[in-house]
Amino acid sequence: MTTPQDVREEIVSTVRRFVEREVMPVASELEHRNEYPHALVKRLKELGLFGATIPQEYGGLDLDVTTYAMVVEELCKGWMSLSGVLNTHLMLAFMLKTHGSDEQKRRYLPGMASGEHHGALCLTEPHAGSDVQRIRTTAVRRGDDYILNGSKMFITNARSATLYAIAAKTDNKIDPPYKGISMFVGEKGPGLSVGRDLEKLGYKGIETCEVHMEDYRVPLTNLLGGKEGQGFFHVMSGLEVGRINIAARAVGVASAAFHQAIRYAQQRETFGKPIAEHQAIQLKLADMATKIEAARLLTYAAADKKDRGERCDVEAGMAKLFSSETCLEVATEAMRILGGYGYTNEFPVERYYRDAPLMIIGEGTNEIQRLVIAKQLLQRHKI
Ligand SMILES: Cc1cc2nc3c(=O)[nH]c(=O)nc-3n(C[C@H](O)[C@H](O)[C@H](O)COP(=O)(O)OP(=O)(O)OC[C@H]3O[C@@H](n4cnc5c(N)ncnc54)[C@H](O)[C@@H]3O)c2cc1C
Repeated sequence: MTTPQDVREEIVSTVRRFVEREVMPVASELEHRNEYPHALVKRLKELGLFGATIPQEYGGLDLDVTTYAMVVEELCKGWMSLSGVLNTHLMLAFMLKTHGSDEQKRRYLPGMASGEHHGALCLTEPHAGSDVQRIRTTAVRRGDDYILNGSKMFITNARSATLYAIAAKTDNKIDPPYKGISMFVGEKGPGLSVGRDLEKLGYKGIETCEVHMEDYRVPLTNLLGGKEGQGFFHVMSGLEVGRINIAARAVGVASAAFHQAIRYAQQRETFGKPIAEHQAIQLKLADMATKIEAARLLTYAAADKKDRGERCDVEAGMAKLFSSETCLEVATEAMRILGGYGYTNEFPVERYYRDAPLMIIGEGTNEIQRLVIAKQLLQRHKI
């Protein structure tokens, strides 16, 4: 009999093989050319990963959060951008699965699972990132449609997407302002245009763009859950999984940096012996591995709690905070261990070093993360 553990191992080892054979050999080259990885994205679809967390009744793999975190970790050992192809796509799928009407689920989830539809999340605006409730995009009801006007910033997958989860204000006067936010599922079409691509330090290959909406029509039936004013809660509900996703990404990138460093340390000789035999290098390797293991365990613990249906905002926040800071530190230490070569394109360490900082910013900056953790802790330990 096949157990859930067997399914998890099978999926994770399939993704690991894919990464080792098909991603690692080409990742740095594609990344340096900042080239969209069409062939690899096609493979992600063939492997069913566009439907990773979508229920089986809609054609998805219906992976639990822990297995999904492990998949993300494996992908990021090869190339972090590949997990970016999936992340906001699956956040939109999560919001549809959790809050969408039956009709909305039937209409969109099968196409998302097969990869016919590719999703993006349009939340951030040029003047509002952490402070989501200050968004200015408006949605005004007219007949059987909402008319959306406004601009979004930093939208990953904006160009390749066919479906957009769009946060917009249906009420500009309500206090507190977050109660005026609604979430829409918009299809690519007239009125919605993709602006410039932002040049980035890392996370290359996939696009991060401006999105503009000018009298963009979205049918009433595409208001998520059919109720206005719920958009902020829809986004927040996806954030626990989103933060576990970022933590898993960080564990993947940090592991790749560590493996590069420990191999190199045994090959490179100075003063008559491999640098791995110098105690200063050994101390670095020990600290790097210990922190990565701690980050992995925090990530799996948060994922396990989510899989058991328990609230895990503090745990997901801690996993995201610790893993992303660890990743940044490990990538820097790996670069030091590789010396001058670490600073060149000869090894992928420079890519890990450029990819790592995104994790301290995305899905809530680490400053915001600390505030969220502290707020919840104070509630839990209220005297
Ligand atoms: C490559 C990339 C991809 C992205 N993809 C997407 C996407 O697909 N969809 C999307 O909607 N968004 C996306 N984002 C946006 C991302 O979520 C935001 O950049 C992030 O939430 C931070 O918002 P901000 O950049 O406006 O920074 P701000 O909110 O302006 O913050 C600036 C600084 O102030 C700090 N700060 C803010 N408020 C406080 C406070 N109360 N206390 C202490 N410190 C504070 C922050 O921590 C940060 O250090 C992406 C960003 C990047 C860089």
